Amino acid sequence: MTDNLAIGSSQNTIIVLLVDDQKMVAEAIRRMLDQEDDIEFHFCDTPSRAVQFASELQPTVILQDLVMPDVDGYTLLRFYRANPATASIPVVVLSSKDDPQDKSQAFTNGANDYLVKLPDKIELIARIRAQSKSYLAQKERDEAFQQMQKLQQELEESNQKLEESNMILQRLSILDGLTGLANRRHFDETLAHEWKLAIREKTPLSIILLDIDFFKKYNDNYGHQGGDDCLRTVSAALNRAIRRPGDFIARYGGEEFVAVLPNTHCKGAEVIAEEMRLFVENEKLVHEYSEASDYVTVSLGIAAMRPATGDKPEVLIEKADKALYKAKGSGRNCYIIDC
Ligand SMILES: [Mg+2]
Repeated sequence: MTDNLAIGSSQNTIIVLLVDDQKMVAEAIRRMLDQEDDIEFHFCDTPSRAVQFASELQPTVILQDLVMPDVDGYTLLRFYRANPATASIPVVVLSSKDDPQDKSQAFTNGANDYLVKLPDKIELIARIRAQSKSYLAQKERDEAFQQMQKLQQELEESNQKLEESNMILQRLSILDGLTGLANRRHFDETLAHEWKLAIREKTPLSIILLDIDFFKKYNDNYGHQGGDDCLRTVSAALNRAIRRPGDFIARYGGEEFVAVLPNTHCKGAEVIAEEMRLFVENEKLVHEYSEASDYVTVSLGIAAMRPATGDKPEVLIEKADKALYKAKGSGRNCYIIDC
């Protein structure tokens, strides 16, 4: 009859916890609830244990006596409300007094209902059912809401992951895997875009086409790993010369690279080309099979245009290609301008 925590409650079972110092009261209430199959009855006659008892039992309603030794019912009400494990459990005060002031104080301290002892059996059961049902319904809504929030969070997390992998995919699709520079496709798109912009803004556009001198010999003698390392080092050196916002460099293919310099005339492009040449030379990558230098070097062709409507960007590439060809004919490790 007393502190019994052995419960086998289903979701809809009503669990009543009576906190009262009088066993007689407990016995009377127990009898009133005896015939109700869906109501479990528990009793705590030690007020100092009531909060912990309720926390563990998780009743759907607490019937709370007001006058008890050691601790009064109002204090217990405040404790229930302050404890997260019992804060929302409905409490029906069972009082021996039908006093408006007691009632008011009980409600102020967090009571949900107030009955005078001993209540009528039908009324007691009706109040127990009403409080328990609304409590269980609220609990169900809270749980459903939490579940929904959890699902929503999971959805947001997976959306974020999807977005991240899309960004990675996008990056991969515009970058050259070996050197980390933009790839050929990205160059084509960039040049087409800058070309249109230059026509519209009536600004000059320069490109620098370059390749590594005697790279085939480098590859043949230092192996493919050596060749790859060389491409990476040269790429990083070239990239250092591309500093202005809007300037762009890509791996054009094999050992060829191309820079797009918007709103840049010949002189400006020349400065950047010389920097590129110097930065690569200063890497001092030994190339014993080069006829141009002891180190890895590059030859560069510069072309600049102020494109007009109807002009095609291929013309600019062709001009740069011819200039590059001339640079190779002029002993390499140098640039030639066609403006
Ligand atoms: Mg009492």
